[in-house]
Amino acid sequence: MTEQRPVKVAIIGAGMSGLCMAIKLQDAGIDSYTIFEKAEDVGGTWRDNTYPGLTCDIPSRYFSYSFRPNPNWSHLLPEGPEIQAYFQQVADERGIRGHIKFGTEVISARYDDGHWRLTTAQDEETFDVLVTATGVLRVPRYPDIPGQADFAGPVFHSARWDHSIRLADKRIGVIGTGSTGIQIVAALGGKVNKLAMFQRTAQWVFPMPNPRYSPVVRATLTRWPVMNRLSYRFWGLIVRHFFGRAPIRPGVQRRVVQALCRWNLRRSVRDPQLRAKLTPRDQPMCKRQVMAWDFYRSVQQPGVEVVTEAIDHIEPLGVVTADGVLHELDLLVYATGFDARAYVRPLTVIGEGAVTLEDAWADGPVAYRSVAVPGFPNMFMLMGPHSPIGNQSLIPVAEDQADYVMWWINQIREGHIVSAAPTALATRDYNDSMKSAMPQTIWVSGCSSWYLGKDGLPELFPWTPERHRELLRTPVLADFDVR
Ligand code: NAP
Repeated sequence: MTEQRPVKVAIIGAGMSGLCMAIKLQDAGIDSYTIFEKAEDVGGTWRDNTYPGLTCDIPSRYFSYSFRPNPNWSHLLPEGPEIQAYFQQVADERGIRGHIKFGTEVISARYDDGHWRLTTAQDEETFDVLVTATGVLRVPRYPDIPGQADFAGPVFHSARWDHSIRLADKRIGVIGTGSTGIQIVAALGGKVNKLAMFQRTAQWVFPMPNPRYSPVVRATLTRWPVMNRLSYRFWGLIVRHFFGRAPIRPGVQRRVVQALCRWNLRRSVRDPQLRAKLTPRDQPMCKRQVMAWDFYRSVQQPGVEVVTEAIDHIEPLGVVTADGVLHELDLLVYATGFDARAYVRPLTVIGEGAVTLEDAWADGPVAYRSVAVPGFPNMFMLMGPHSPIGNQSLIPVAEDQADYVMWWINQIREGHIVSAAPTALATRDYNDSMKSAMPQTIWVSGCSSWYLGKDGLPELFPWTPERHRELLRTPVLADFDVR
């Protein structure tokens, strides 16, 4: 037996991917890890987003860790609070909380003398390996509308929902019609005094039903875990081979999704004026595809208005549109999305030669196979640039990435290497080949979306989920500077 070196690992973030990394380390018998978590609980996105109607649009069976199926999902699509409860439960079952420094924001991470030195508001600590698991859509993006500060009522971002406010008697304005805005409108339409949906760009809506799992189904899956595993595989095939393929290349999947979106609008909205307002100019899936069952029904409820006139400014009493109309409101919600290019930032990361990640990403975030960056040895990212997001379940993606990171950690532990970082050449070649695959994706078909980077190309993975797994299965040593 070779003697194993102790390896100290720092994980930043206790969301879905940070917990996944921790479990992989534990399974390998590595207990010397610390998770730094800015907030006071695990869960990341599912802790921060609590807006009414929050539902993941990936089937629940496939929105679970492959190693920890959950027979108790209530619906085909899991609701926000039960996803959060699932991650809390996994953290408790695996005893991960004891490794988490809650309420501890990492301010900087510096690679120094073969180690990562992490500075928090409280202290400094040194690690062999740094894993960033900071999520993708974490930093809320607020609009820049004149007069915003003048609004007399409560106003907040969708990811910072204020549950102290009673909604039923309110006149509510929702700015934004992405997946979030549409879920909020679907949940509140007809249930509040008035609802104004401010739509800058119409969205295609895929008709995704969300049936409840009966107690019999749940009991069956609990009694026979093999059924749960089969169900995971079944939904995995659907997600990967249907929704995963439709946007990345022309074919039957793309035609079916597009036809169903158009049919959904035609059959659900009979009023020609409202239908015209809700008809997008771009193609289905060009923006992140919205999946909903109730949206068109909700938007036609009494008291719901679709406002397509551009917003001019905000006043104490409400929102004034370019036609001079004042939409009087008691509460304003910004469902205006997130800064998708933040990744690990605003945390300062300093690699070899005092080069910061900010410098390395001056032209936009890039990575080698989405997990590593040249000049930043022993730093690995989960959900880094160009990860397969948007048309996938992120959980299997995080599992594949964490397995890849484990391969490198094991090399260090077994004493084969001290450090590894991808070469600039391999990283450039990888990114060039990705760019050349972008033209066949639907994301470049002429819309604006958070998918697009500075160069106008999507910061997404243009190939199949299987290809992503394959790329991470066996590390290519020749692509790395290994010491
Ligand atoms: P988003 O997709 O970025 O949508 C932001 C919306 O705000 C867009 O409609 C945008 O209009 C509008 N907007 C932004 N600034 C505006 C302004 N100044 N005036 C008027 N409108 C403005 O954000 P999101 O809806 O929060 O969704 C982000 C992502 O989160 C989704 O794409 C998805 O990946 C994820 N998500 C997933 C689920 C799920 O079920 N899995 C649920 C919710 C969110 P334009 O289109 O004109 O720019």
